[in-house]
Amino acid sequence: MSDDKYDRLKRIPNWSQEKLTQAKVAVFGCGALGNEVLKNLALLGVGNIWVVDYDTIEKHNLTRSVLFRESDIGRYKAEVVAERVKEINPDTQVHPILGKLEFAFGRGLLREMDVAFGCVDSFGARRTLNERCYFAGIPWIDGGIDYAMGNVALFDPRVPETACYRCKMNSTHWEQINERRSCPDGYLKDDYKEPVIATSIMTSSVIAAYQVEIAVQVILGEQNFQPGTQLFLPVSFPTGFNLGKFKLNEECPDHELIAGQQNLSTHLVSIDSTPSEVAAMLGLDGEWVLELPFDFVFKLTCPKCGHIEPIATPVQEVKQSQTWCPKCDSDYRNPTKSFQIYKDYENSELPLRTFWLSEREIIHFSQNGQLSYVELTDETSRREA
Ligand SMILES: [Zn+2]
Ligand SMILES: [Zn+2]
Repeated sequence: MSDDKYDRLKRIPNWSQEKLTQAKVAVFGCGALGNEVLKNLALLGVGNIWVVDYDTIEKHNLTRSVLFRESDIGRYKAEVVAERVKEINPDTQVHPILGKLEFAFGRGLLREMDVAFGCVDSFGARRTLNERCYFAGIPWIDGGIDYAMGNVALFDPRVPETACYRCKMNSTHWEQINERRSCPDGYLKDDYKEPVIATSIMTSSVIAAYQVEIAVQVILGEQNFQPGTQLFLPVSFPTGFNLGKFKLNEECPDHELIAGQQNLSTHLVSIDSTPSEVAAMLGLDGEWVLELPFDFVFKLTCPKCGHIEPIATPVQEVKQSQTWCPKCDSDYRNPTKSFQIYKDYENSELPLRTFWLSEREIIHFSQNGQLSYVELTDETSRREA
């Protein structure tokens, strides 16, 4: 008898427990799929797991989330799953991150991952995750579920001739993404509610199992599944599955990120420094521009009473109701909106932290067409930890 707990795994041909122990993976979304993915990763002894979710546990999560208990209602999903994964397998290091993937998980950290899991429930989150993984140059595995069927797809920027999630997006995807936004500014509709998806643990457990199987194959370098393809599992008609291949879009903007990230070198700078300070440190003395990863509303100006409110919020997080002027009741305020920060503009003297950038995010300065990349470090949080 062997008392190695991984004994039965190690008997699998071409298995390497060591590779799994050393692996770094990120799980985006800790709902039904995320729970199942994490349970599998814990049992397999995958060594380093980051879990990212901004949401808290509600009662309806309990019927399909193996890691949640009745007493967890109201707590952050990411925190609870991290505790439970550690209980299942103390060998595993888990790092909970509370926040949205684009504001809380820097692309510098993402670059270190062997693979990422998309366990999210909207096209918008998938589109963002794809863009970030293609920037970071790491493969990601998407899972999608409803009550009757599920699907799993692998996207890998290291195999650029294969399709990515953005390549396969069609008008239905964009319509759903835009449904939550107001025209013409793209702000969040205050009364928007995410559509409720009917689903059961049968679909999520099957889909998560395939997501993790594919991830293990990627980590072990023993892939039987091609990037740019999708498994389609009709769970309520259990007669097998279909495999589909997505078509590469020659004009895909996310594919264009692949060339940029190769040999990308970064300078480390503090998240508390200002764009001007960083530009000086980089030796940029011309007309430089800092580009943020998302469109940003710096301030709202009322055309009627002239009131100016600095809001410093990404466009996608501005609520439609914020366009009302609190001073004079005017129903519209003009946004000062850009993803760029120019030399000598007032915003260039604000700490980088102001712009919703997380620790380990990568941003770039451009001057005369030359790009300089910086990765942000957070010295304060490190000292406090
Ligand atoms: Zn693409
Ligand atoms: Zn006003």
